[in-house]
Amino acid sequence: ENTSHRYRRVVLKLSGEVFGGGAVGVDPDVVAGIAAQIAKASAGGSQIAVVMGGGNFFRGAELQARGMERARADYMGMLGTVMNCLALQDFLEKRGVDTRVQTAITMAQVAEAYIPRRAMRHLEKGRVVIFGAGAGMPYFSTDTVSVQRALEIKADAVLMSKNGVDAVYTADPRTDPTAERLDQLTFEEALRRDIKVADAAAFSLCKENKLPMVVFGAEGEDTIARALSGERIGTLITS
Ligand code: UDP
Repeated sequence: ENTSHRYRRVVLKLSGEVFGGGAVGVDPDVVAGIAAQIAKASAGGSQIAVVMGGGNFFRGAELQARGMERARADYMGMLGTVMNCLALQDFLEKRGVDTRVQTAITMAQVAEAYIPRRAMRHLEKGRVVIFGAGAGMPYFSTDTVSVQRALEIKADAVLMSKNGVDAVYTADPRTDPTAERLDQLTFEEALRRDIKVADAAAFSLCKENKLPMVVFGAEGEDTIARALSGERIGTLITS
């Protein structure tokens, strides 16, 4: 079925890779395009909070593999997400969208601290809230944080935009021609099949708390706007 329903409040997870346009750093044209889509959905009346990834700068696990201490490398990863937040904030504000960045590591000169009740208040006023610095804790991922934030601010769903895949498949469609595209599955199945589009901690948290997750591709002119508007694209994962 091709149902569409507007979310009252939703968390959008943006991976850092999307912002980099395949390279290290931020591609302003890409961010401008994403901001335009978020602005459109926000104007449509949905309350939107973004959890920003940072893979376009640093991933703790990768730096660890190259000899760095994991926790310190993870902090570098978290700081990278904040640069993405500021880029997104800039392009949203250029479009006339009121925004607030809230970070899990306090840095009062550039962002508010993460205060959930305040975040909800911003959302009620129509502001887009951008969450940075992950959970502020090493050994976590922004995928897991997006679920945690969605639960804490009482969002209806968490939307995971992904690079390079447009949905959940039974196997990696880039390497396995028998891979089947799934329109819907349960968190239980996602965990059992060891589906990699989000980490197991994120799936578990959703499952336990009955929070729906939508996994969809970030590529394309309007996929983010469509997902935010409640259109059934990608894969819906439920409890
Ligand atoms: N990170 C962390 N704790 C968190 C969130 C992120 O330590 O709560 C670090 C971790 O090193 C991670 C990096 O920040 O690799 C960037 O986040 P992530 O890999 O989730 O970004 P994405 O892949 O979505 O761009």
